[in-house]
Amino acid sequence: MGKVLIIGAGGVGTVAAFKVAQNSDVFTEIMIASRTRSKCDAIVKAIGNPNIKTAAVDADNVDELVALFNSFKPEIVINVALPYQDLTIMEACLKCGVNYLDTANYEPKDVAHFEYSWQWAYHERFKEAGLTAILGCGFDPGVSGVYTAYAAKHHFDEIQYLDIVDCNAGNHHKAFATNFNPEINIREITQKGRYYEDGKWIETGALEIHKPLTYPNIGPRESYLLFHEELESLTKNFPTIKRARFWMTFGQEYLTHLRVIQNIGMARIDEIDYNGMKIVPLQFLKAVLPNPQDLGENYEGETSIGCRIRGIKDGKERTYYVYNNCSHQAAYQETGMQGVSYTTGVPAMIGAMMFMKGLWRKPGVWNVEQFDPDPFMEQLNKQGLPWHEEFDKDLEL
Ligand code: NDP
Repeated sequence: MGKVLIIGAGGVGTVAAFKVAQNSDVFTEIMIASRTRSKCDAIVKAIGNPNIKTAAVDADNVDELVALFNSFKPEIVINVALPYQDLTIMEACLKCGVNYLDTANYEPKDVAHFEYSWQWAYHERFKEAGLTAILGCGFDPGVSGVYTAYAAKHHFDEIQYLDIVDCNAGNHHKAFATNFNPEINIREITQKGRYYEDGKWIETGALEIHKPLTYPNIGPRESYLLFHEELESLTKNFPTIKRARFWMTFGQEYLTHLRVIQNIGMARIDEIDYNGMKIVPLQFLKAVLPNPQDLGENYEGETSIGCRIRGIKDGKERTYYVYNNCSHQAAYQETGMQGVSYTTGVPAMIGAMMFMKGLWRKPGVWNVEQFDPDPFMEQLNKQGLPWHEEFDKDLEL
């Protein structure tokens, strides 16, 4: 059906490339481009398909991107580099007439601030150009939004309470490691918490609110309230929501390490002078932490991510829980990557597939919940992330 360009050759890029290559009826030509070309070549070798092209590109540089897009002429770009590159890649898409998909919203390098305003501001330009941009198409954001849209379409007249619950019950046998890019991950979880209630955003201390929640096939795990970017788009797109929150599990060992990292200044994102050189402590820390891509081999256990929803159907209150459990080992066996990269890369491929098939194609900049969830939900079951539903049970929330 068309050509796809994947930008970024990390854990998520590797999984996206494997899944795109498995669906060759949809993705007729594939290119992987990233800052370090050898990483793209290593992915091609792991997949074992020499027809996949590779290229080096600095995705902070619009001119380099434009030259690459004009030579390969992709139908759509899957951006799985870092959130810092979202706007330059969107600019290049507009210049070259290429459609766009990503898994994380833009954030400026010098402030860890998460909001869609920067990317939503591109809506009119994409619309006028007749191009589609699909924002936040990983698992959370991504599948969390599709689950919510599916619940609204099939199971509720009115969604009132939404809790997105993200549990990683895996063990990678390292003292401390992050499951995706350490810099992006640590910026996210050291922020103040925030949730939506009765039309207002309520701020909390970082990881201040927590409670045990029970996850299927895993059991109870302490879960911490954080702000997560899809809360912004979901409360806007489903205005009946009275309260929306996001919960993530962390082990005590992880939290202790995180506290030390912050206390000794290693989570700082401003530049400091080191022996006459400017360095950013968090970027230096990333260089010495385990690479998330190398965690897969000894990773045991599974992730469980879902939406717990309360609302009204046919005049009666109802609860609904929809979730996926993903085994780190199964993900590793299939793609060489752990479950967190897998649960992000698979939905990114499915979003691009939705576009290629013409099912998610409308000019403008959209969040995933603004498209029909049904064909995406069908593909989740076929592409390795099957989902399960439970009705009218205690949501613990
Ligand atoms: P990695 O750090 O493993 O990979 C990022 C890749 O992007 C690397 O290959 C890196 O190149 C490349 N890159 C960085 N800067 C540039 C640049 N300027 N030009 C070209 N390439 C660049 O990250 P992950 O794979 O773990 O995560 C990828 C994305 O997925 C992130 O944006 C993350 O926020 C998002 N994510 C989303 C989730 C969701 O559920 N929605 C969950 C998890 C992650 P190099 O190797 O040379 O450094």
